[in-house]
Amino acid sequence: MIIGIDLGTTNSLVAAWDGEHARILPNALGNLLTPSVVGLDDQGELVVGDIARERLHTHPQLAASLFKRYMGSARETFLGTRAYRAEELSAMLLRSLKADAERALGQPVHEAVISVPAYFSDAQRKATRIAGELAGLNVAKLINEPTAAALAYGLEQREEATFLVFDLGGGTFDVSILELFEGVMEVRASAGDNFLGGEDFDDRLVEHFVAKVGAADLPDTSLPAIAQRLRREAQRVRHALGQAQLARFTLREQEREWSLELTQGDLAEITRPLLDRLRAPIDRALRDARIKVADLDEILLVGGTTRMPLVRKLVATLFGRIPAMQLNPDEVVAQGAAIQAALQARHASLEEVVLTDVCPYTLGIETSVQQGAGYQSGHYLPIIERNTVVPVSRSRTVSTLSDNQKVVQLGIYQGESRLVKNNIFLGELEIPVPPRKAGEVTLEVRFTYDNNGLLEAQVHLPINGETRKVVIENNPGVLAPEEIAKRLAALEALKVHPRDKQINTLLLARLDRLYQESLGDGRQYIAGLANHFQQMLDTQDEHRIREARGDITLRLAHLEQEG
Ligand code: ADP
Ligand code: MG
Repeated sequence: MIIGIDLGTTNSLVAAWDGEHARILPNALGNLLTPSVVGLDDQGELVVGDIARERLHTHPQLAASLFKRYMGSARETFLGTRAYRAEELSAMLLRSLKADAERALGQPVHEAVISVPAYFSDAQRKATRIAGELAGLNVAKLINEPTAAALAYGLEQREEATFLVFDLGGGTFDVSILELFEGVMEVRASAGDNFLGGEDFDDRLVEHFVAKVGAADLPDTSLPAIAQRLRREAQRVRHALGQAQLARFTLREQEREWSLELTQGDLAEITRPLLDRLRAPIDRALRDARIKVADLDEILLVGGTTRMPLVRKLVATLFGRIPAMQLNPDEVVAQGAAIQAALQARHASLEEVVLTDVCPYTLGIETSVQQGAGYQSGHYLPIIERNTVVPVSRSRTVSTLSDNQKVVQLGIYQGESRLVKNNIFLGELEIPVPPRKAGEVTLEVRFTYDNNGLLEAQVHLPINGETRKVVIENNPGVLAPEEIAKRLAALEALKVHPRDKQINTLLLARLDRLYQESLGDGRQYIAGLANHFQQMLDTQDEHRIREARGDITLRLAHLEQEG
């Protein structure tokens, strides 16, 4: 059995094909979405998902989130006494999803298809594969998230189609344009904003609340406990406004209460600047793919934040039609990954889908441009443009700049800036040239970029037939095999918090958080609940524990929703 995994920035899911449908498999708490947060509990045991998320603010040094942003880099995050790379943190999450799948399917699982954003570089893709390996999963295939969404919608069954995937998640916005032609799915363009998602909408709501109620009157909103509560409340209000016309934003502290009524219209106005920012990446993707809105056969909505009616309305206005939204937008990517897994397992009887990759960034060299009488160096000459389908080979001709120049040094860069200093330096090519007058020696620079992210840069001198080349393995942060083995052993030694205790641990973690977020009487009340629950746990009487859990959960729901 091969499972499908959506390894998201905010939430992750695991799914499997049951013969008829791609079914999302529940985690130990019975939820379909597992927050992409990992951590250690007080005993040093691994906790994942909701429990880790509750502890993110009460035990910041023992929990990590948003690590998908650092995939493919060497950046490390401390958890307790050790620093971990993004691959390792992802592996902890994957391990937990694997265990959930095994529980739900009643059989061991060793293989997975994992989704990655279409813009992921080769280094990021390799890191994702390594994360799978560290979790004891053979990664049968990586699938691009928009392609997975398309599979979930069954678009691969069409003869040919061009469509746009609009994915607005918790912290990222991705637009992709896909083309299906003769059974081949091609990512024609991808664009987006890596810092735009549901959480930014929550931040706006908090700012608005503070401005309206008056910062002077409120408790210190820079206190992490208060800030955290405001953000939670903002998210609750934002979700509520998806259904209701009106929602009340409330903060209660000691004996005091601050409250603000908000309508859907208010929300639209408050978040207008964010909604406006959704346009540019759409335009860019259409331009890069050389496609007009009228050429699009479908618009697919992906990501939890597209549940907002405001976002749906905006999409409908921008495209002049209703987007596809029959499926749950936060589940489609996992479903598509499970469909791809099923295809993989039976060597694709459900119509083979070949994924074509694009080079996600522009590759080029440093050049000089004429300025008055002289030349100014530091300019960027693109050779392979962003979003070119790979493998690709492109060349440009340049020439010497000064009289009797003896050598030419070519700096190789990746990035989108006009000036190389703002781009990433990848390497250098040096070639001796015969001394001539400036501009008389021409050099042919050829870049070849393959599916494995290998860039071969070559410079050729027609004047004497000389050639020099350099191969750049563009993966600065990829772990070496012996490093992987070492980290695998370390991860395997890490004890996992017992599955059957998770629901109780989650409640304790939540009580902990609420305790930290409140003051005075509220705090006393929470402490009372926590002590009572701990006593019940100590009795080890399942029946009494369950009863207490139900009772406390109900009280907390009152507390969190009504202030
Ligand atoms: P990611 O792909 O970033 O891992 P998701 O696609 O699961 O994450 O999106 C998470 C975001 O979706 C959160 O910001 C959450 O507030 C938002 N979201 C989920 N459900 C709703 C809803 N009903 N209304 C508005 N936003 C929602
Ligand atoms: Mg996502």
